[in-house]
Amino acid sequence: MAKLTDPVTILKGVGPSKAKQFAALNIYTLGDLICHFPRGYEDRTRLTTIDKLEVDVPACFKAMVMNTPRTNHIRKGLDLTKVQVADHTGRLNLTFFNQKFATEQLQYGTEYIFYGALSGDYVGYGMTNPVFETIGSTPVMTRRVLPIYPLTAGLSNAAMLKAVRQALAICDPPPEILPESVRVKYGILPAERAYYAIHEPVGMPEAEMAKKRLIFEEFFVFSAGLALMRASRDGKQIPPYTDLDLTDFLKALPFQLTGAQRRAIDDMVADLQKGTPMNRLVQGDVGSGKTMIAAAAAYLAIRNGKQAALMAPTEILAEQHYHSLSKLLTPMGIRLALLTGSLTPKQKRETRAAVEDGQADLVIGTHALVSDSTVFHNLGLVVADEQHRFGVAQRSKLSAKGEDPHLLVMSATPIPRTLALLMYGDLEVSIINELPPGREPVETFLVGESYRARINAFIRKHVEQGHQCFIVCPAVEENQELDMKSAVAWANTLQQTVFRDLRIALLHGQMKASEKEAAMASFARGEADVMVATTVIEVGVDVPNATLMVIEDADRFGLSQLHQLRGRVGRGKAKSYCIMTSRAKNPETVRRLKAMCKTTDGFKIAEEDLQLRGPGDFFGSRQSGMPTFKVANLSMDLQTLKDAQAASAQWMEEAGTSQTPEAIALRGRIGELFLRAQGTMN
Ligand code: ADP
Ligand code: MG
Repeated sequence: MAKLTDPVTILKGVGPSKAKQFAALNIYTLGDLICHFPRGYEDRTRLTTIDKLEVDVPACFKAMVMNTPRTNHIRKGLDLTKVQVADHTGRLNLTFFNQKFATEQLQYGTEYIFYGALSGDYVGYGMTNPVFETIGSTPVMTRRVLPIYPLTAGLSNAAMLKAVRQALAICDPPPEILPESVRVKYGILPAERAYYAIHEPVGMPEAEMAKKRLIFEEFFVFSAGLALMRASRDGKQIPPYTDLDLTDFLKALPFQLTGAQRRAIDDMVADLQKGTPMNRLVQGDVGSGKTMIAAAAAYLAIRNGKQAALMAPTEILAEQHYHSLSKLLTPMGIRLALLTGSLTPKQKRETRAAVEDGQADLVIGTHALVSDSTVFHNLGLVVADEQHRFGVAQRSKLSAKGEDPHLLVMSATPIPRTLALLMYGDLEVSIINELPPGREPVETFLVGESYRARINAFIRKHVEQGHQCFIVCPAVEENQELDMKSAVAWANTLQQTVFRDLRIALLHGQMKASEKEAAMASFARGEADVMVATTVIEVGVDVPNATLMVIEDADRFGLSQLHQLRGRVGRGKAKSYCIMTSRAKNPETVRRLKAMCKTTDGFKIAEEDLQLRGPGDFFGSRQSGMPTFKVANLSMDLQTLKDAQAASAQWMEEAGTSQTPEAIALRGRIGELFLRAQGTMN
């Protein structure tokens, strides 16, 4: 018997070159192969007769070969084979292209099982390139449910299936990790059956059952993992904060906190005096004032003799936090430090030294902050801003820094409840569902190319009133293949044509960090009228004087992303606008974009996005550290998610430390999942 960890090269027919193709799909071991699940199936179980065949609907039928196949060499590289077959209901002409060798197998007077789709035209009906097998053969291409695999160049579906089948024949599938009680309660196939059935189901119902099992399993492992993480933190004892007086802090604020901000701060204060590390998510729409929650938390940590760290996803944002919080906190005697990747080595060394010997109270920075060379004197609080970019693994890594610091994560991505439950199953949640007073919703329009002159006039009008505009393009540079606006080219075009007299700035992800920062800072100081940018500006940047956001080729963005972009305007007192341009004709796309014009409620938009696009936007590649789900589709499988969560919660309670083989295997899988997440962190 082979092991799951054995390399695929032990399979017959898998040499170095095949192995390379498998590697392109991240398949290295038999286990990887067995867990390379089909993306869909072709149901070839239906057996019909020739008279019942329908045009373009593939099906199997049994028929006898009525003549000896004749192959004509049409031209170089093109052989045409014709043969007639019949059953008791009728006759059918088959045509094969370049299958001389295969069709030579067809014997006059013998019956075969064919699988193909009828094509029909004015000459009559026929079938092109059906697959066929002899009657007594093991079904491979006909009379079965055929799994359709994600493939890569050079690797055919048949080759993949053959390899998987071999692997399953010589190797036990991954062990059972779901307790029997859970399987019975939720009608879940045992692991052994499921791993076979996902590849070689007896029929479509069994394929569905197998899929359900694997989805359930993924969710179960993930939820159980989060629960374990939470349990391990809840078990930790730390000294509770004793000084929770926010009077001076609140006095120094230039405004009154909103009710929702107050509630979030109250939640946090309660956490800080509990004597276990805080794990709180503050979820609030763009502009709802989350930074103040972070500031209050840092203020308290520092009052209690601890250091605080604030992590931002981009340098621009770290800079901005540094400046705005310095203004607020420096007068209170709090020492701030900025730690980002673009500091010179010397600056970095000095800042790190200050952090290490406790000269800095509040350290603000990017991921560089978490890098292993940063040592804190006594880190008591970590705030992660725009949390959706920090995955589960980062959370656990951060918690490992310092002595069980309090953790506060802030997300501006309104995530549908079910998803939030899953992603943040290890966190308590505070929701800020109220904007500071006096904010008018950003008025949003969707227009086509015919509005170009009017858009330009509108931009000019805003600039003449002393305001600033953002123009967001989906691409950085011109790309022939992807027909969409690029920031570089569009900025040039505008500068050289309609806006010769305006100051146009450029910001995109391919610029150096220092250049980006300079551009953003200069725009924030009002030194440019129009900023042409990519989604780099999506996160958190605050320019209250910007009142117009133009989003080019808006159909290229997800709704949640559009919502984030739109949140860049409407941050000041003046009325703000968002104009989305799109050349898309697809009614669904248009409907999706129109939804943006109707609501500014981030939660509603997120729900809509989830319905339309699936969770890719939440769990996409941007989510460093977030384990991806192989089988599960979060928008479709919500019920399974709920079941798996309930089951895992119950299991943790009853059998968290159980020593059954299932429980041990489950803990192994959880370890792997979170390890894998950690591996993709950087
Ligand atoms: P978020 O991070 O939630 O997107 P910010 O914390 O950046 O939002 O706040 C957005 C803007 O609103 C900032 O300019 C901030 O100073 C301001 N602000 C925050 N809270 C209030 C409040 N209670 N009243 C008025 N303005 C506020
Ligand atoms: Mg923010």
